[in-house]
Amino acid sequence: MNIILLGPPGAGKGTQAARLVSQRGMRQLSTGDMLRAAVAAQTPIGIEAKAIMDRGELVSDEIVSALIDAELLAMGEGTGAIFDGYPRTSEQVGQLDAILARHDRQLDRVIELEVDEDELVRRIVGRFSCANCGAGYHDEFQQPTTAGVCDKCGSSEFKRRKDDNEETVRTRMAEYRAKTAPILPSYEARGLVTRVDGMAPIEEVSAAIERALVTV
Ligand code: AMP
Repeated sequence: MNIILLGPPGAGKGTQAARLVSQRGMRQLSTGDMLRAAVAAQTPIGIEAKAIMDRGELVSDEIVSALIDAELLAMGEGTGAIFDGYPRTSEQVGQLDAILARHDRQLDRVIELEVDEDELVRRIVGRFSCANCGAGYHDEFQQPTTAGVCDKCGSSEFKRRKDDNEETVRTRMAEYRAKTAPILPSYEARGLVTRVDGMAPIEEVSAAIERALVTV
């Protein structure tokens, strides 16, 4: 099964993708994560992408589609893919169709997480994660049980994304509205879209996604 998780930054795509990975053995393909890894490793792609990401703008379609193509190739056939944060433009929609065809895969469902923008800014600006295992936390909604210690691995090192500040978040939202939301009608015309209330508690969002996937 191959699915897309679509929604503005902070809608919970990463959280839900992580659940599908552990529950269904699928693989999360997050172009944001791949780009952050490239920035950290200072590869040519990372060097090119860094300033664009820091401003909250979109990296070129060719770069992100090449990253996805390479990941699918490395994955082999049997594992389902969750596209998280990709595609984000109509060009990427066309590129993904071509990539899937090349890898003998089909797109089974597009899940749109519907959310309220002001609430999203609160969610994003407070989020941080364990620097060791990546477990996600939030200043207001989900502090570690013991302050300063990761619940999952015990590490005391945490990190925040550089683009999780209010100004950049507003730019990322505007990019979503201008370039990503307009790709939905083409997937709707193909009968692929299920809308899920992304403001509901995490468990309820997961249950709604599961219901959407049983019919696939
Ligand atoms: P994300 O982690 O999905 O919020 O992505 C972080 C940043 O990486 C975005 O603000 C963009 O600068 C860049 N990025 C991630 N995915 C894409 C994509 N599919 N197309 C263009 N830029 C992307």
